[in-house]
Amino acid sequence: MYCPQCATHLAATATRCHECNLDVQRIGQILRREERPDPAAGFAGQMQRWKQQRSSLGTLLVMCSLLVGCLIPIAVGVFNGSDALGAILPALAGLAGLLMVLGSMLLMAADGTILTGDDHSHAAPDETAQREHKSYAASR
Ligand SMILES: [Zn+2]
Repeated sequence: MYCPQCATHLAATATRCHECNLDVQRIGQILRREERPDPAAGFAGQMQRWKQQRSSLGTLLVMCSLLVGCLIPIAVGVFNGSDALGAILPALAGLAGLLMVLGSMLLMAADGTILTGDDHSHAAPDETAQREHKSYAASR
């Protein structure tokens, strides 16, 4: 089962969440009366968390690329006229471009626009979960 407060995965026998110390035994008893544990919901939750991680990591990389981009004019100012400038500038520019590309790819991956199977893979568990829930409700 999963902690309803912080979504930590807990053992079925757990009485308290080891992350936020929520009393999950009582809530678990109520939930078991409402519906059975659904593995598809856990999978969808993991996909959602992974999407959020990709999105924030992509944003972080784009921000880093802009930071490195800011270092280029600083390097020009500090090393103006010295031999070191020739080696540092292309490296910084290349690094900024690389970070920008990686960040953009992660942001697109988070939206599912470059992972072609992504829309189907997170639509399918929802439909399966709904079907299972309906058939379970009908069987009661
Ligand atoms: Zn918790």
